Amino acid sequence: MIDKSKKYWTGDSAKDISEWLRLYTGDDSLDVKSVICHTCGGDSFELRVDQNESAIQVKCTACGTKNILLDCGDIWADAKPRLRKCSVCKTSKSYNIKVGFVRRENGCVKWVYIGNRCTECGTLGSYLDWKIDYEPTDEMEQNI
Ligand SMILES: [Zn+2]
Ligand SMILES: [Zn+2]
Repeated sequence: MIDKSKKYWTGDSAKDISEWLRLYTGDDSLDVKSVICHTCGGDSFELRVDQNESAIQVKCTACGTKNILLDCGDIWADAKPRLRKCSVCKTSKSYNIKVGFVRRENGCVKWVYIGNRCTECGTLGSYLDWKIDYEPTDEMEQNI
C-alpha cells in the first residue's frame, strides 16, 4: 500500500511502484513491467543513472549481475552515470525497479518511465523518463 501521509510517498512492497507510476504519469493504461535479475531472480538493485543522457544500469545486490536497461546500451559509452543513494533515508543504495511504457496507437512504446522504490525506507520515485522516437520497439522493451 502507498502511504501518502509524508512528504515523499512510500510503499511497503515493490508492487506499489505500479500504482505510483500510474499516478505519477496520470496514465491508467500505463504498461508496467518488473525488473528482475536474469541470473538469480532477485529484485533489488543498485542504480547507476545519468539523468542528462537518460541512461540507467542496474546491478543486482544479491549476485552482482549488471544490466544496462532498455535502449541505454546505445548511448552508454557517452553517459556519465552516478551511483544513486536514496535522498530521503540517505543511507540506502538499494531499490526495487519497474519500468512503465506509454504506448502509441500501434502498440509501440512512445515514452519510458523508470519507477524506483528504496528498499530501506520505501520512498517511491522516478529517477528518469525518456522519449522513444523510433519503431519497432519490441527488442528494446524486452531488455529489462
Ligand atoms: Zn542477481
Ligand atoms: Zn531510502
